[in-house]
Amino acid sequence: MSSSPIASGPLVRRNSRRVVISHGGREIVVGGGAPVMVQSMTNTDTADAIGTAIQIKDLARAGSEVVRLTVNTPEAAAAVPAIREQLDRMGVDVPLVGDFHYNGHTLLTEYPECAQALSKYRINPGNVGKGAKRDTQFAQMIEVACKYDKPVRIGVNWGSLDQALLARIMDENAGRAEPWSAQAVMYEALVTSAIENAQRAEELGMAGDKIILSCKVSGVQDLIAVYRELARRCDYPLHLGLTEAGMGSKGIVASTAALSVLLQEGIGDTIRISLTPEPGGDRTKEVVVGQEILQTMGLRKFTPMVIACPGCGRTTSTVFQDLADKIQTFLREQMPVWKGKYPGVEAMNVAVMGCIVNGPGESKHANIGISLPGTGESPAAPVFIDGEKKMTLRGEHIAEEFQKVVLDYVESHYGQGHPA
Ligand code: SF4
Repeated sequence: MSSSPIASGPLVRRNSRRVVISHGGREIVVGGGAPVMVQSMTNTDTADAIGTAIQIKDLARAGSEVVRLTVNTPEAAAAVPAIREQLDRMGVDVPLVGDFHYNGHTLLTEYPECAQALSKYRINPGNVGKGAKRDTQFAQMIEVACKYDKPVRIGVNWGSLDQALLARIMDENAGRAEPWSAQAVMYEALVTSAIENAQRAEELGMAGDKIILSCKVSGVQDLIAVYRELARRCDYPLHLGLTEAGMGSKGIVASTAALSVLLQEGIGDTIRISLTPEPGGDRTKEVVVGQEILQTMGLRKFTPMVIACPGCGRTTSTVFQDLADKIQTFLREQMPVWKGKYPGVEAMNVAVMGCIVNGPGESKHANIGISLPGTGESPAAPVFIDGEKKMTLRGEHIAEEFQKVVLDYVESHYGQGHPA
């Protein structure tokens, strides 16, 4: 037996500067020990102000604490103040981030109302301009950010890496007695691009606590390697995300694998899950996945969690799958209202189990648990509340009755006036 208890939890969080992204009275803190923030990005045409405002509202309602939108054309820049106004009218105060490539210096200068309406600018140093224009155009963007007191993200992406910088690092590598691999050169170029551009922004007058960094790549091991090094070399807050993560389960798994390793090491101050939606799919999925990564790792709590067994040959009907799905959907849908009404409810656990093998045991560990009857068991579903069996549900309406039990529990345990 070990002489000390088995430890749990992530490693100590990396120390980073504290950056505030604000709109009106809303302040979102990134870094400086603040909870890891979840953000997302729209996929509407920004020039379509109404369509974009609606999607931003949906993303914010799903829990996105900051929403980024592309600002790629004069029409898009002109639409940004209208989008902001529309959101404010709907009571949606989520801060907006403008994503700029190629023409950001022009759009931010020629559309001052856009520059003001945004709460942060994302600058891709690989897409700022070429040759002599590069430094001037980067400086122009930083100047606008300083003028309106906006933070920026220096967002490097290996799909659009600064080619001049890459060439410089390749030259340096060629001069080494033992040249590094192409992969190591690429990592070095990514990290150097982020840090040198952040330093350049500071030289241009930007405060160090207005800068967030990211270095997105699409491979899990690459992302982990690059961010470990970035974390080691600077104390700017880090935006984590696997770029082009992909569709469906592949995108979710790859993002989760990469981000979990880094978060466990205390690296990362804000996350975005770059999922490719299925055609007609719901954009808010990326917010849900981001929240679930943080919540299942025990880093934050957003919505009550449903613990459900996978089912096996002991369950021959879909009753328990249907119930688990219904309860999970019900809980998530309630959260926008419950958040204000029932403080602490996001920490609640609900277990939906398929049979007697693990059902009662797992149910006892949850705040509320139900153990449905497996094949051959008597058609009764014991319900456990705070570890004790309180009732048994039977018949056709188990789902509705269990939902009512959950609702009563929420009201009595998290409602106004309850001592907890
Ligand atoms: S709890 Fe029962 S139904 Fe669920 S996986 Fe375990 S044995 Fe199978």
